[in-house]
Amino acid sequence: MELDIELQPSDLVGCRYRIVQRHRHADQAPTEAVQRRIERAEAGKSRVRALLPLAPEEWDSSKFSRVHIEDEGEDAELATLEALAAQTTIITGAVFTGSSDGRRWRSTPDVLVRANDGRYLPVIVSNHRIARPAVGCRQELIATRRLGLGASSFGEYRLRHHAVDGYRLGLAARALAEFGLDSERGGAIGQDRELAFLVDTRHYQSALSKALEASLPDGPRRLKECGECRFWFDCGQRLTAADDISLVFPGDRSEPYRRRGIDTVADLIDADLGEASALAKAWRAGIPVLRKVPQVTAQRFDVEIDVDVEAYLDQGAYLWGAFDGREYRPFAIWGGLGTATEADNFARFWSWLRTVQDDARARGRSFAAFCYARHGENHWLSSSARRFRGHVSPDGCTVPSEAEIEEFISSPAWIDVFAAVRSQLIGPRGLGLKIVAPQAGFTWSESDLDGEASVDTYRVAGGHTGARPGEVEAARRRLLSYNGDDCRATSVVRAWLASGAPGIPPLMP
Ligand code: SF4
Repeated sequence: MELDIELQPSDLVGCRYRIVQRHRHADQAPTEAVQRRIERAEAGKSRVRALLPLAPEEWDSSKFSRVHIEDEGEDAELATLEALAAQTTIITGAVFTGSSDGRRWRSTPDVLVRANDGRYLPVIVSNHRIARPAVGCRQELIATRRLGLGASSFGEYRLRHHAVDGYRLGLAARALAEFGLDSERGGAIGQDRELAFLVDTRHYQSALSKALEASLPDGPRRLKECGECRFWFDCGQRLTAADDISLVFPGDRSEPYRRRGIDTVADLIDADLGEASALAKAWRAGIPVLRKVPQVTAQRFDVEIDVDVEAYLDQGAYLWGAFDGREYRPFAIWGGLGTATEADNFARFWSWLRTVQDDARARGRSFAAFCYARHGENHWLSSSARRFRGHVSPDGCTVPSEAEIEEFISSPAWIDVFAAVRSQLIGPRGLGLKIVAPQAGFTWSESDLDGEASVDTYRVAGGHTGARPGEVEAARRRLLSYNGDDCRATSVVRAWLASGAPGIPPLMP
C-alpha cells in the first residue's frame, strides 16, 4: 500500500499499519496511556532545557547564543533555518522536513548544538534507558549542562539500543546534511537527564533507509502495542471479524502457522496442533489459564515474605513492599531518588529483610522471600547496592555489598513465583500476575493502576506535577495500596499453587 504522508521516526518502529490508520482516522485522539507518555516525554524535554547552558562561562567571552523555537507550525522550519544561519550555539525545538528513499519525513531533534567547526550535533531526549554503567566499557559522553560549552569525556557505560532513538538521530543528521551542517555525531539523553551519550549517526543510516523504504501493510495484525493504540476500535473489529490468528498469537508468533496456511483461530483449532490448538480453543472459550502438569505444587516455608519494588523510570526505587502473611510493610520515599534518602530507605528495607531471615534461622525455622518475575527486583537490589555502596543510614542500617545481594538472589531463599507458575501453567493471554491472581480469587483495590500508570502516579505522589496536597496524599495512598496488593497477590498465588491450583483445566484433556 502506498500513501503520501510525512513519516516521523516513531512511525518506523512497531506496527507499520498505524501509518495507514493515522491517514484514515486523522482526528482520532491518542489513548490515555499514550497521552500520559507524551506528557512524560514533554516533562523530560523541559528538564533538559532547564539544564542546558544559557551563557558562556564567565571566563570565556566567546560568542554564545541560545534560541528556542516555540512554533510547531509551518514557520518552525523557517525559524530553524534562520537559527542555523545565525550560527546559534544551542537551538531547541528545531523542525526539519525532507524526503529520502522515496518517503517524506519530519525530523524534530530536541536540541541542536553547534560544534567548534560550525557543524551541528543533534541531541534527542528519550525516556528510554540509554546506557547502563558497565565496568571496563568506554563510552563518550558530556554533561547536559556543558553542551555547547565544554569538551566530551569518557565514562564506563554500555549503550542500549532503541531503534526509534537511532532513527531520530539518523533523520536529524540527514536533515543537517542537506545544509552541509552534519557533524555525523549525535547525542542521546535518557532517563538520567544530566548526561548526553555521544554516538556516530552514520551507524543508523542503513537501517533508517530500510525502514523508510518498507512498504505498508494492507491490513492490521495484532501486536502487543495494540492494547494502547488509538486505532484498536477499528483494527480490533476487523481482526475479530476475520477471526485472525494474531488474536491468539500476536506479532511474529503467528508466522509459523501462517506459513502452513493457518490464518484464523478456527483453522488453528481444527489443525489439532497440540498446545497451540489447545491455547486457541481456550482463548475462544475465554479460559485464561490451563494446567500443563498433572499436579500443580509449590514449596512452603515457615517464614515467607512476599516482596515487590516500585521504581520511577531509571532514576531509583521509591518503594520496597514486603508482606509477611499478616502485615504489609512498605519502605517508601516520595522524593530524593538517587540521593541519601533513597540509600537510607533501601538500607532499612534490606536490614529488616535480613533480620527476619536471621531470626528465622536462629529459631530453626525455614525462610524464603518471593517476588513475581524477579527481573525488576533483582535489578534494583543489585543496582541499589552498587549505587549506594557502603552507605549507612542515620539509624545504623547498612547498604549491603553487591556480593551480598548476588549471594542472596542466587540462593534458594529467593524464589521467583512467576517461574513456578510458568513451569506448570500456560495461558492464551500470558501468565502475568494480573491474569493469574484472579484465578486464585485475588482482586486489586486499585484495579486501574498498572506498571505504566504507576509511573505517572509517582510523579503526582512526589509533588512533581504541582498537584494539591490532597491529591499528593491520595496518589501516595494509591501507590501503597497497589504495591501492597501486588505483594498480597503473590502470596495468594503461592498458596493457590500449593493447593494444586483448583479449578484450572488441563491443557490436554
Ligand atoms: S491497533 Fe494494532 S494493528 Fe491497529 S494500528 Fe494500532 S498497533 Fe497497528
